[in-house]
Amino acid sequence: MKRLFLILMMGILCIVPCHAESPEERETAVKGYVALTFDDGPSGTLTEKLLDGLKKRNARATFFLCGYRIEEYPEVMDRYLREGHEVGVHSTVHTNLTKLSPEEVHRDMKETAQRIFITTGRRPTLMRPPGGAYDPQVLSEAKAEGMGVILWSVDPEDWRKRNASAVLSAMAGAVTHGDIVLMHDLGESSVEAAFIFIDSLQAQGYQFVTVSELSVLCGMEIHPGRVYNDFRN
Ligand code: ZN
Repeated sequence: MKRLFLILMMGILCIVPCHAESPEERETAVKGYVALTFDDGPSGTLTEKLLDGLKKRNARATFFLCGYRIEEYPEVMDRYLREGHEVGVHSTVHTNLTKLSPEEVHRDMKETAQRIFITTGRRPTLMRPPGGAYDPQVLSEAKAEGMGVILWSVDPEDWRKRNASAVLSAMAGAVTHGDIVLMHDLGESSVEAAFIFIDSLQAQGYQFVTVSELSVLCGMEIHPGRVYNDFRN
C-alpha cells in the first residue's frame, strides 16, 4: 500500500510543472528560426568541413544536390541525414530546366531523386531548380515527384563574391524568422561566412533548422509542385 502511494505521488510530481524559468533561460529564448541552404554539392572535403562546423554548432541545413556528384562522395551522403540535415534535388547536371523538353525535365529530376534515394534510403520531398528557373513543366514534374519547389528570400551571392566578409555584409541585418538563405558549399569563403553568420545569429537567439522543419515551425505546409521563397509569418 505504501509502495502504491509512492508510485502515485511520483506520477503526480511528474505531471505538475515544478520548474520556473530562470532569467538565463529567458535570455536564451528562441527569437526565430532560419533555414540555411547549400546548392551544387556534394563537394568532398569542403562539404565535410561544413558538416563538421554545423555539427559543432548544433545547426542543421538543407542541401540541394547535383545528381552527377552524388556517387563521387558516398561518405558525405552518409552524413547528411545521420546528422539531421535535409537533402533535396537541384538537378542532375546543373542545367536550366526551363530550356529542356518535358521528357528531359522528367529524366533530370527523376535521376537525381533516385540517386538520393539509393544513397540515403529516403525520397526527397524538396527540389530547387538551378538559377531558380522554373516554368509550368518544372512545377508539374516536381508535383509528380512529390516535391515542393524551394527558392530563397536572402541571396548573399556567395558564389560570385568569393569573399567571406563581403558575403557576411550582404547577410547582415537581412535575415529574420522564416527566411531561407541561399548559399553554396563550393568555396572556402562560403563555409567561413556560414560559420560566422551562424555564431552571430545564434548569439541573438536564432536557431538553424532544415527547410521542412522551418515550414512546420512557421505553421506552413509544403505542397508538391508549389513554390516557396520563405516561411515568414
Ligand atoms: Zn546551382
